[in-house]
Amino acid sequence: MDDGQYFYHPLENIEDVELFYEAVERGHLTKAISPDRPYTYWTIELYDQKNGIRGGGGLGVLAADTRRVAEKMNVPFALITPFYPYETHQKISSGQVQDDHIAIDYKKYGFKFVDTVNIKCCDTLCSLDVIEKRFGSTRIIAITEPNFGELYSGMSGSDHRLYQEVALGFGGYAALKLLGLKPAIMQLNEVATFFAALARLDELARNGMDFYEAVVYTRKHTLYTNHTLVQAAEAEFSREQFERYVFPNLHSLALKKWLSDKFTNDRIKLSSVTIETAELRSGVSRLHARVANYKDVAGNKVKFKAITNGIDMDTWVLPETMEFYKDTGIVDDINAPTIDYKDKLGNLTAEKVRELKSIGRKKLNEILKNRPDHKGKVLHFDDNDFIFDFKRRFVDYKRPELPFRDPVRLRNILESRGAHYILAGRVHAGDKTMSEKLHRLLNTIEADDYLRDHVHYIADYDEQLAYGLSVGANAAINVPIVGLEACGTSWMKDVANLNFLISTHDGGVADASINSYLNVSGADEDEELNMLYQRMEEALVANENDFDLEYILRQQLAAYLPVISGARMLQDYLDFLFPA
Ligand SMILES: *Cc1c(COP(=O)(O)O)cnc(C)c1O
Repeated sequence: MDDGQYFYHPLENIEDVELFYEAVERGHLTKAISPDRPYTYWTIELYDQKNGIRGGGGLGVLAADTRRVAEKMNVPFALITPFYPYETHQKISSGQVQDDHIAIDYKKYGFKFVDTVNIKCCDTLCSLDVIEKRFGSTRIIAITEPNFGELYSGMSGSDHRLYQEVALGFGGYAALKLLGLKPAIMQLNEVATFFAALARLDELARNGMDFYEAVVYTRKHTLYTNHTLVQAAEAEFSREQFERYVFPNLHSLALKKWLSDKFTNDRIKLSSVTIETAELRSGVSRLHARVANYKDVAGNKVKFKAITNGIDMDTWVLPETMEFYKDTGIVDDINAPTIDYKDKLGNLTAEKVRELKSIGRKKLNEILKNRPDHKGKVLHFDDNDFIFDFKRRFVDYKRPELPFRDPVRLRNILESRGAHYILAGRVHAGDKTMSEKLHRLLNTIEADDYLRDHVHYIADYDEQLAYGLSVGANAAINVPIVGLEACGTSWMKDVANLNFLISTHDGGVADASINSYLNVSGADEDEELNMLYQRMEEALVANENDFDLEYILRQQLAAYLPVISGARMLQDYLDFLFPA
């Protein structure tokens, strides 16, 4: 990054405002990123088990991958997140989901204690530990205390959630100051991180900046990344909750008044105030950015810039496959596709695919040794066993049970080639509908003498299982109800690891044309189901035919490598936030 390329000015004194507007006129909105002025990324969820932090799903995986890509690209980057002292693990016992809670010690994961910071809650001071771990140009700054609780514990809209969010925002902002850091930009990974922007606004306003200029300043330096489709679905907080947890942490009277005016009937949605404090807004796929239905306080539809999620390929792709992509010039040294990557894909032969999938299969078998299926059986697969998988959170819109609606047809398809079907995905704590659906699904499997031995549910879906199935299965089933998936990243892991993608045209999949993969569509669910079965048959046949195998996998990679590349994603963010 060329520092001289961007306008630089010091923050937090009154001359700032003039310098700031001068910069606006010259078209350089934002200051350079530097080690003490990093890109800051705020997230309530991080999925990074190697560093002791377990997330809930895609939102946390994305955060971990974004930091890893920033490290690779040498971008000064600080990720601010809670360290949860407990995490949940799920198991299946007589067909029922059970949650276990396990204590986690940050010291075991190489985090260093920095100091404590205080926030106010309910008339008392809460002391929060600031801990830190550095990786090249990046770092994770985490906020924690022994009673911080678990990720997404309690109901959304509850006091405890508000406490966690306030602790991350105000505590995290104080932690930045403690470490001598000023944010070049604040990226808010969903609205649970809104309080970080509020903390900054408060600091600017109380240090003498005119309040409205402080609002403008904060707005120009805050990016709100939305992952949700409808604002209506979001939890609300009450004025009374804000009076206990939020207002006591604000110093600026003008800001208190401003925030106080944002309530409707004494209730507030964080998205409405996040939109007010972030002029930069992004959605996580082309389709999502177009259809996300959010209104600002004036009632106007909010526009989101489309920046499709990507993955850190070094984390998710089999090392031997990465080596192949690099050696043949398909990707460059930061794992972005090269200019002529489409031509280079000609090097991907069926023989090469089989060689790489065989290495991936071994890796999967290793992982499965410790991950028995729902019947306690340790699975092992040969190279020529065909494996379909569904691996994603068990939420209704992702339709985990769709392929099981016609068990006889499913059986016939699998039996024609001796194929297996692996299901992995956690049920959200307290989601009765989905635990019942899972229970019924397991009964359906048990009732059929072929499915019984060829369909396997593996509990406690996590990064390890996601990796094992991506490198070791053959075809991924991704069938969200069209319009409901914001992006999804599991399918990216599958495409990059040379699996057939059988998918509805939704989320990031819809960034490319419908002919890029084994598409599932139809006028209603019955038609979709019929097409899903046809696609499964097609994958089984193509797997035995070199020409088809090469054709389909090359086509998937040609369409999606630029989407998948985390380097592409981060570059898109940098171009959007720091236009030259
Ligand atoms: C990749 C990954 C996800 C992402 O899931 P999507 O359903 O594609 O959004 C979720 N959980 C884990 C453990 C993952 O590795």
